[in-house]
Amino acid sequence: MRRNRPKIVSIANQKGGVGKTTTAINLGAALAARGSKVLLIDLDPQGNASTGLGISRDQRGLTTYDLLLSDADIQSTARSTGFDGLSIVPATTDLSSADAQMMSGPRRLSHLKMALSQSASDFDTILIDCPPSLNLLTLNGLVAADTLLVPLQSEFFALEGLSQLLLTVKEVRASANPKLRLEGIVLTMYDARNNLSRQVEADVRDTLGDLVYQTRIPRNVRLSEAPSYSMPIFSFDPLSKGAVAYRMLAGEFLRRNPAEPEPAHV
Ligand code: ADP
Ligand code: MG
Repeated sequence: MRRNRPKIVSIANQKGGVGKTTTAINLGAALAARGSKVLLIDLDPQGNASTGLGISRDQRGLTTYDLLLSDADIQSTARSTGFDGLSIVPATTDLSSADAQMMSGPRRLSHLKMALSQSASDFDTILIDCPPSLNLLTLNGLVAADTLLVPLQSEFFALEGLSQLLLTVKEVRASANPKLRLEGIVLTMYDARNNLSRQVEADVRDTLGDLVYQTRIPRNVRLSEAPSYSMPIFSFDPLSKGAVAYRMLAGEFLRRNPAEPEPAHV
C-alpha cells in the first residue's frame, strides 16, 4: 500500500563492522520482495551498499554527495538495482568531503532532510545506510529520519557504544528532529551456541525490553559472500539462514509498522 509519505529509517551505529550495510541491503530487499517500493540511501563514503548492489564506481553518476550539496533530487540520483523494487542513491569517496562542506551554515544538519522532503513520494520506505561514526553525515541521517534502527553485534563491547548513540539521539531530539523515534535494536552475527552471544542478548533485552527485535540475525557466511556477487542474499542464496532471518526481520518490521490507512478522499 502506498503511503502519502515514505517512512524514513536510518540504520546507524558508530561502530564499524556491526552489520549496518548488510542490514540495509537485505532488509531493503526483503521489504521490496513483499511489495514495498524501497529506496536505500548510501550515506557512507566507503560506498559498500552501492558496491554490494552492483553499482560499479564508474557508473555512479550523481550520488548522495549531489543529493546533499547540490540541487540534485531523488529522481535524478536514485537508480534501480538488479533487485525488483529496490533502488539506491549510490555513494563515492567524494562524500567524505561533504562533512567539511556542510560544516558552515545553520542548516548543516538538515541537508538530507530537505532533499528527501522535496519529492520522496515514489517510495514507501527509505533506508539510510549511515557511516561508522557520529559525524555530520550520520547526524544528517538522524535528522532526516522518522526512526533509528541499530544493528548490534552480539559481542562483549556491544552495549558500550550504544549508550553514546542513545545520547546522540537525545541531542537530535532536543534540537533538529524532536520526532525521532527508536525503531529498534537488531542483534546481528548471533551465534546461539556461543555463551557470549546469549549473555549479550540477555543484557540487551533486560536493558531495552521491547525495543529489541525478536528476530536475531545469525552469523552466516552466505551473508558475507553475497555482496561480492552484487546481490542481496535472496538472489544469491534464498534458502540460507541469513535469507530466512532477514525475511523474518522484514516481517517483524512490517508488524511493528502497520501501513497507515489511506486518507479519505473528500
Ligand atoms: P557495517 O556496515 O556496520 O560496517 P557490514 O554490514 O559491512 O557492517 O558488515 C561487516 C562485515 O561483516 C562484512 O564483511 C559483512 O559481509 C559481514 N557480515 C555482516 N553481517 C554478517 C552476518 N550476519 N554473518 C556473517 N557475516 C556478516
Ligand atoms: Mg557499512
